[in-house]
Amino acid sequence: MKNIVIIGAGFSGQGIVQKLYRDRRFRITLIDKNPYISYKPLYPDVASGRLSANVIEYPLEEYARRYSCDAIVGEAKHIDFEQKKVIVGTMNVPYDFLVIATGVEASFYGQNHFRENAYTIDSSEQCRAVQERLRYLMSIKKEPVSISIIGGGYTGIEFASHVRHYCENHKKQTNIRIIEQQKTILNGLPETITKRVTNYITSCGIQILTGTQVLDIKSGMAVLENKQLASDIIIWTAGMQGTNISGRFKQLAPNGRIKIDATARANGLDSVFIAGDASDKYRMSVPFAKQYAVYIAAAIKRLSYGKPIRPFCAKDYGYVVALAGGRGVGQLNGIAVDGLFGYLFHYFMCVLSLQGWRNKGKLIRFVLGWSPHDAGLPTEPCANNSDEMSIHK
Ligand SMILES: Cc1cc2nc3c(=O)[nH]c(=O)nc-3n(C[C@H](O)[C@H](O)[C@H](O)COP(=O)(O)OP(=O)(O)OC[C@H]3O[C@@H](n4cnc5c(N)ncnc54)[C@H](O)[C@@H]3O)c2cc1C
Repeated sequence: MKNIVIIGAGFSGQGIVQKLYRDRRFRITLIDKNPYISYKPLYPDVASGRLSANVIEYPLEEYARRYSCDAIVGEAKHIDFEQKKVIVGTMNVPYDFLVIATGVEASFYGQNHFRENAYTIDSSEQCRAVQERLRYLMSIKKEPVSISIIGGGYTGIEFASHVRHYCENHKKQTNIRIIEQQKTILNGLPETITKRVTNYITSCGIQILTGTQVLDIKSGMAVLENKQLASDIIIWTAGMQGTNISGRFKQLAPNGRIKIDATARANGLDSVFIAGDASDKYRMSVPFAKQYAVYIAAAIKRLSYGKPIRPFCAKDYGYVVALAGGRGVGQLNGIAVDGLFGYLFHYFMCVLSLQGWRNKGKLIRFVLGWSPHDAGLPTEPCANNSDEMSIHK
């Protein structure tokens, strides 16, 4: 039996498990630093208070039971490529094939003290924390809630639109601004799309400051070149980088994502694959992560039969920026979408790939407006067990 070890239970990690778990020749071990799988595309909905975090979390232990694999909760910090083992806490986990599917995390470009005074939208815990802070402010503050969002990419835009809508539904005034260093928000997307989104966002009363650099983030204050913006909440969505485990690889992109060869492998190692956002080959998106999973699962099967593998090539299916008020703007298979269809498509895809029938049901009710906008304060404490380790078999 071959040992397959997957680090990261995100979209690519899950995809590989689901393709291989029925094959009796493989024993799969899935390692994740969190005891639950969390669903990133819905982070802006959770952070903005619209959706309970419970809807986007699914216990790793339950997942492992369902897909007959072993699960280890703990952060993989070292890999011994010679001995072919991953070190998680005090455990050595041997592998025949290893998949690095660790995704990305917020990057502060070396200004790590920003982290102390700004929230990110890159983990379930952070989204819960933003939601709690927002609700607290809404309950105590008479004046408008002031929110500075640094970074005008998908995440910043979606969060801004949702949070404004949420506050409006609760008759709470806001003063929201998006601060973007580039000349336009959604930098890199076609002009027609950036224009549409810019018009929509500004028509909602959200201020967009483009070509503006944030020099410092202090407590309750975003410092720009010529002014300081007092803010009740500061959100940092200005960049992503590879996680610590990337440091084990020789060739990295400037943002720390791992460079791969034509067969999604790195360091010249035949048995180590890099999947999803951890690799720098494609844009960070769910469809790409899923295509890595399909390819790597098939490659592992072929290699274990001693057969050669073909190069990896993924297709870009497009993207949708989901805005509050039922509008989704983007491109699907090269066709521009703008309106309710795009919005519903985004959430339909979320329902399809969300883990757990109960979670799917809750999300459908939420999208159709059958549940209250605020799905209740988080009932569970934040589960950040990165220093702890547990094993589920
Ligand atoms: C706010 C936000 C909104 C998004 N919206 C969309 C969207 O609408 N549509 C879309 O297509 N894409 C969206 N994306 C991008 C999409 O979520 C990612 O491309 C996708 O999650 C990548 O999957 P992955 O498997 O590579 O990594 P991830 O899904 O990020 O999973 C990585 C996993 O690895 C674990 N991990 C990391 N390091 C370690 C370690 N050392 N040891 C153990 N475990 C570790 C993490 O806990 C995590 O569970 C969004 C991303 C964000 C942040």
